[in-house]
Amino acid sequence: MVEHIAQERLQFEQQRRLAYRISGSLGMLLVLYAQVTQLTDTSFNNIERSVFAINHAVLAGFTCWVLWALAKDWLPLEHIERLMLWFLSFQAIGFNSVVPALLGQSLAELVRETAGDDIWFLLVICSLAFHLYSGRWGILVGVGLYLLAFSVAFTLVLIDQRQGSGDPNGIFVIQMYVAASMLLGFLFILARYRDHIQRLQVEYNLLERVAFTDMLTQLPNRSMGHQTLQRQIALCQRNAMPLSVSIWDIDHFKLINDNYGHDVGDQVLRAIATRLVEELRLSDMLVRWGGEEFLLILPNTTLSSALLVIERLRQVLSKQPIINNLSVTASFGVSCYHHSDTLEQLLQRADAAMYLAKAQGRNRVVADPHDLAMCGHKGVNL
Ligand code: GH3
Ligand code: MG
Ligand code: MG
Repeated sequence: MVEHIAQERLQFEQQRRLAYRISGSLGMLLVLYAQVTQLTDTSFNNIERSVFAINHAVLAGFTCWVLWALAKDWLPLEHIERLMLWFLSFQAIGFNSVVPALLGQSLAELVRETAGDDIWFLLVICSLAFHLYSGRWGILVGVGLYLLAFSVAFTLVLIDQRQGSGDPNGIFVIQMYVAASMLLGFLFILARYRDHIQRLQVEYNLLERVAFTDMLTQLPNRSMGHQTLQRQIALCQRNAMPLSVSIWDIDHFKLINDNYGHDVGDQVLRAIATRLVEELRLSDMLVRWGGEEFLLILPNTTLSSALLVIERLRQVLSKQPIINNLSVTASFGVSCYHHSDTLEQLLQRADAAMYLAKAQGRNRVVADPHDLAMCGHKGVNL
């Protein structure tokens, strides 16, 4: 489940990278086009032309930087997105709302600008804010900026109406902002929904951890071991890979409880789990099978390799005191997967081998005799 979520996140990141690359490249072309048309448009005075040129230069510079940062891949995507959000906000409020208002933009001009890019700019900002922050912060940032831009446009319309020019373009500006606010409402619903899904995900991960972890040793518990083994067997059936397992049990553990108390017994179990996990590969799994009994799953491991690994574990366990001056040993039963084995058969052979190890004097590794014969590794010195 956790791997699945990580994979989805990676995919989503790749899609966003692609979207920013495409829109950034198109944006660059549009900025160039806008600059060229404004140079040839005689209706603008020199101040307006200079402001537009600065605006276009800043926009093109930032877009180039974003495309470069995406290509270099040296900044986390969320970092780039946060910079995009704040740059675009500054751009939308500064260059698209306040400066045109100060330059005394006409309402006809305002309609053209609003429909052309202002509204879309704001919606991009709102989407980024919703994506980057939790629902509440996304709404505050997005709606706040939107209202700021809207109030500038609304003030321009109001001033125009007061002056009694009767320009019908004013109503278009208001209509466009109202229509865009519907999209904003939709984004708001999506953000709430996303927050809800994220909360469920966190709860699910927590439940999964509790349901599949042994609380004393923090090892995977019996259910998890069962599930993992089932999956490994299915893999072996499909890919003809080797698989070995070991059921092992601490020797005379009852004596530890009786002599030192249950708490010390618990400490010993925890220390054993920590010490042995350190010795294993990441792909191996040590499971608390029950009481003082453990299951070791060794994927892609032949019986002979498993016997070597487990013999090493036995030595690691018995050579040094596990806590204070207390030493423990364990008896290990080992079996390996054969084609058409069931999970129960595989475990039953490992369990029987473990009892054989106990019967032969404990503190030893014993493989199922049938498996040894089948795999032809009788020569392994146990
Ligand atoms: P053997 O070598 O035959 O395995 O002897 P043993 O004493 O280990 O075997 P036995 O099955 O008689 O005793 C197992 C003991 O493990 C009994 C039980 O109280 C103890 N035990 C099981 N789970 C826990 C636990 O979570 N904490 C502690 N402290 N003791 C536990
Ligand atoms: Mg025991
Ligand atoms: Mg036992």
